[in-house]
Amino acid sequence: MEPLISLVIPLYNEEHTVGLLNERLNQLMDTQKKEIEVVLVNDGSQDRTEELIYAIGMSDYRYQVLSLSRNFGHQVALTAGLVYAKGSEAVMILDGDLQDPPELLETFYEYFKNGYDVVYGIRKKRKENFIKRLSYQLFYRLLKSLSLVDIPLDSGDFSLISRKVVDLINSMPEESRFIRGMRAWTGFKQIGVEYERQARAAGDSKYSLKALFKLAYNGIFNFSEFPIKLITRIGIVAILISLAYSIYALIMKITFNAVPQGFTALIFVITMFGGIQLLSIGIIGEYVTRIFFQTKQRPLFIVKSRISDQKLHG
Ligand code: UDP
Ligand code: MG
Repeated sequence: MEPLISLVIPLYNEEHTVGLLNERLNQLMDTQKKEIEVVLVNDGSQDRTEELIYAIGMSDYRYQVLSLSRNFGHQVALTAGLVYAKGSEAVMILDGDLQDPPELLETFYEYFKNGYDVVYGIRKKRKENFIKRLSYQLFYRLLKSLSLVDIPLDSGDFSLISRKVVDLINSMPEESRFIRGMRAWTGFKQIGVEYERQARAAGDSKYSLKALFKLAYNGIFNFSEFPIKLITRIGIVAILISLAYSIYALIMKITFNAVPQGFTALIFVITMFGGIQLLSIGIIGEYVTRIFFQTKQRPLFIVKSRISDQKLHG
């Protein structure tokens, strides 16, 4: 029977959480009357994750297992899962470390049944250290103020998405994926549900600082034209200031024959504008890089092998 709902779960080096995850998912599926499929996406793990989830996929028809040819990153792993998910009604996206409780499916599904196309989790409390919490809060507020679409505050990818919106996301060819933004962009009826984000079941975060920054950059540069407009604004302000100063210097010269003093000020202005110019080139570069990668039109991910209905493909 075709599943009604798919749960898409990306996994990168999660050998210590897979067992627990499997248990929780089985419990959930055993208590549900709905047909549920789990899509486990191995994002090029170097540990035993692949081996472990293959064993699950081969012994349990409810699991579809997808293995990417290398580590493509969380957002692309999700993308792959969304493409292969068969759920005809909706797809739920969640992390593999049990930070997003799978049991919320019931609550999300209620909203879905009441006509919402996207039901996403809003993190009430983060069980993470202060610095990480603070940076997340700042980032989401910055993103909201800059973004062209209304990306909800304090929510990640954890959500239940209708088949219609999943198909729309799958049809977006953008190379640089920011799923929560793309999800918001589609529109329709969306609603946030508060939940308490748990601590990781085991192991450490698989997001390196570099990957986190990349995600934050993608959020801002893929969904905002503010940075590039900022350059123009700084340029206009700089021209106005220098114009005012030139007029002042000219008047001083003509009426008092005085040459303005200030070597230090000169150095200051030169270095400051040198900095602003480099920053501006960097901002333009961000957009150019995105165009560069997009025009290559490479596939977004490569599937090495797949288990579906206990048959190994690829
Ligand atoms: N993940 C992935 N590819 C990566 C990094 C992470 O598939 O390159 C998965 C990871 O296994 C987890 C989810 O994405 O299931 C969220 O990652 P993590 O828990 O490390 O992020 P955090 O919760 O610390 O933001
Ligand atoms: Mg996590």
